[in-house]
Amino acid sequence: MKVNQAYRFALGPTPAQERALRSHAGAARFAWNWGLAKCKERYEAESTWYSAIGLHKLWNAEKKADPALAWWGENSKCACQEAFRDLDRALRDFTASKKGLRKGKRLGFPLFKKRGRCRDSFRFGAGAMRCPGRAVTLPRLGVAVTHESTRKLARRLDNGTARILPAAVSRTAQRWFVSFTVEVERSVPQRHARPGSAIGIDLGVKTLLTGVDDNGQTLAVAGPKALRSSLRRLRRAGRAHSRKTKGSANRHKSAARLARVHARVATVRADALHKATSDLAERYETVVAEDLNVAGMVRNRRLARAISDAGFGEARRMLACKTTWNGGRLIVAGRFYPSSKTCSGCGAVKAKLALSERTYVCTACGLILDRDINAAVNLLKLAASGAESLNACGGTVRPGAAGHVPVKQEPGTASAGKTGTAGGQPLAAERELTHAH
Ligand SMILES: [Zn+2]
Repeated sequence: MKVNQAYRFALGPTPAQERALRSHAGAARFAWNWGLAKCKERYEAESTWYSAIGLHKLWNAEKKADPALAWWGENSKCACQEAFRDLDRALRDFTASKKGLRKGKRLGFPLFKKRGRCRDSFRFGAGAMRCPGRAVTLPRLGVAVTHESTRKLARRLDNGTARILPAAVSRTAQRWFVSFTVEVERSVPQRHARPGSAIGIDLGVKTLLTGVDDNGQTLAVAGPKALRSSLRRLRRAGRAHSRKTKGSANRHKSAARLARVHARVATVRADALHKATSDLAERYETVVAEDLNVAGMVRNRRLARAISDAGFGEARRMLACKTTWNGGRLIVAGRFYPSSKTCSGCGAVKAKLALSERTYVCTACGLILDRDINAAVNLLKLAASGAESLNACGGTVRPGAAGHVPVKQEPGTASAGKTGTAGGQPLAAERELTHAH
């Protein structure tokens, strides 16, 4: 079975490579803005725009004619080509959204990118990309050292079970990363190693996840200590930052520090989630999770941090892939399935349950149970309800900053007990699935 996986490595570039990285990101931004100006003009006149290929042709003509654009040759031409592709896709998404053909929030017309105000990123569409040991070879940049070993990917490339598709390069808090989209050939077992095993999981705010399996065993995965301490650091950095005068040099410094702490939290969290989800997928054939309206919940500011920290969307996407790879399946409960409000003992449904109520107390049958465990039991019941599942995995990587969601967004998931919208909607809070395990 072929699946797309992202391998992401932090780079340790030389000063010359760092300059080249910045230059490429600048070229990509310039190309986006240049193309957007052309497309905007045409869109206002004819309600259509230039395709990526059309823009590339225009660009080729203009860069030869205009001596001010002579710098283009310093960078890989991929940086511009891929920026045009992103722009084309952003415009297609915009028109689809306008016609109501696209799920999610209404999209506006693409915006110009301003240096320092947008993410530094670009892509290599093709070219010589290799990963010899603790380094990666990229077009124009040569061999760049990586912080982690690339051997796992190198081995897959060598024995022909993986093929590198485009590579995205981006900067987060002063650190550069390269993310390879790789087509991997995975051998998937016909049947899960533990057929019939099932677990219902409640992705939590306090604990990372709480689960109850078919043997009645409860499982609680607390967030790692490193996450809690970096969250404390994040709060402190945030407070310090808000005290600095706007526009001052100190504010600039504290912003950089805040960004670094944010990046650290994201890494630690993703790592903990990877471990927990790998473990679940290996141990259970069927995993049932709830489908939370993450986009709606993040709007609630008090909950915002806690929710995004727990990384609901991320966890669900990891589970979708990993259950498939182990011959299992992920069932996602419908958005309106009242897993928290239902009594797991008698089935009575409460009209209201405040988030602060950590214990479920049933007024009908007298059941008293931890809120998360109660929800997990209800979710586990869905596994037995014979809900259908569609098992496949792929297209889980969101390329580029354009926020394009691949068509095969969540093929590893199935919906159960739904009374409202389908379970496979792309969520605003979902970010690219990085690291590969
Ligand atoms: Zn009850």
